[in-house]
Amino acid sequence: MMSEIVNLLGLDADGLAQRCADWGQKPFRARQLMRWIHQRGEHDFHAMTDLARDFREVLERSACVAAPAVIADNVSADGTRKWLLDVGAGNAVETVYIPEADRGTLCISTQAGCAVNCLFCSTGKQGFSRNLAAHEIVAQLWHANRALGAGDPAQRARGERPITNVVFMGMGEPLQNYAATLTALRIMLDDNAYGLSRRRVTVSTSGVVPMIDRLRDDCPVALAVSLHAPDDALRDELVPLNRKFPLAELMAACRRYLERAPRDFITFEYVMLDGVNDSDRHAERLLALVRDVPCKFNLIPFNPFPNSGLRRSPAERIRRFAQRLTDAGIVTTIRRTRGDDIDAACGQLAGEVQDRTRLGERAARAAGRSVPVGDREARTTRAAGKRGRQPAEAQ
Ligand code: SF4
Repeated sequence: MMSEIVNLLGLDADGLAQRCADWGQKPFRARQLMRWIHQRGEHDFHAMTDLARDFREVLERSACVAAPAVIADNVSADGTRKWLLDVGAGNAVETVYIPEADRGTLCISTQAGCAVNCLFCSTGKQGFSRNLAAHEIVAQLWHANRALGAGDPAQRARGERPITNVVFMGMGEPLQNYAATLTALRIMLDDNAYGLSRRRVTVSTSGVVPMIDRLRDDCPVALAVSLHAPDDALRDELVPLNRKFPLAELMAACRRYLERAPRDFITFEYVMLDGVNDSDRHAERLLALVRDVPCKFNLIPFNPFPNSGLRRSPAERIRRFAQRLTDAGIVTTIRRTRGDDIDAACGQLAGEVQDRTRLGERAARAAGRSVPVGDREARTTRAAGKRGRQPAEAQ
């Protein structure tokens, strides 16, 4: 019987040490492997010249370092770069790199689709396909690092790191794929791998309260919460998960999280929807809601998509809403749209997905056949490949 080939991208320090022990190797071999794979971006075991030849042969037979295939790779005029990755069975996920003067941020996905189904979110409209494995989550950082030259010895010698921050804000709800997210976090923070600071890795959640508590205990990193409404009635509509974990429980979980968080605030994300959640009264109620939670606000101008039934708040309304929060002493930013020309702006996924779906339906009609519901993801990916366009997603 053939033994299973293990993808080493998905093993944290303990997992790799265990595998090395199984192969009769000492623990330091695991650290060597980790540095080769994650710091140098090496996938060819034969190139790992400081490993004994017979160990390299064991690795050749038993392991791999494999990232999903890249379906599309687009660079925006503002430097934002977006990869669409094939995760099999007709599913594709996105990774977006956002360069700024003082940092490089990678936005990664944790699920193909998402089950939370927020009203304003494109990914939610796709439905849920499956959780990504830890190796598929880490592969996004591994691939982006290589594509951005991080394995280059000269760049490493200069101490340059193209990716300084990682945000779990791509497709999916990370805390509904907890085990894989936790393993990926541990690899990202490991000094033998990417050595990212806890303060520079942000998990964004729609509010899975029990898992916020587990993350606090297991691996506290910066936390962002997709809030989007100041009261349960409205949030029940916008973020259906609120019916299970209402705001009072969510705020209590945020307070508990702050006891161990690497930053002394929670980031609340708030999508600005014209006439829905953007009035002065909403701002007042928001201030009352978060009065006991040290926080910052990130206001996200909604990116409309067909049939959403929602509109972006006017710029002046967003500015006034931000001012009200700022006047109350809360640091508030308005998210700048990046990567518009490659559809990498936050929340654009829905429009593209729906466009692609219609493309698929049109193609099917033209071919004189119907498209089964279960074929939806396959259609999405095929169309994406054809058009070479796929946008970023945000919590
Ligand atoms: S906003 Fe986040 S949690 Fe909500 S449907 Fe979209 S991906 Fe899922």
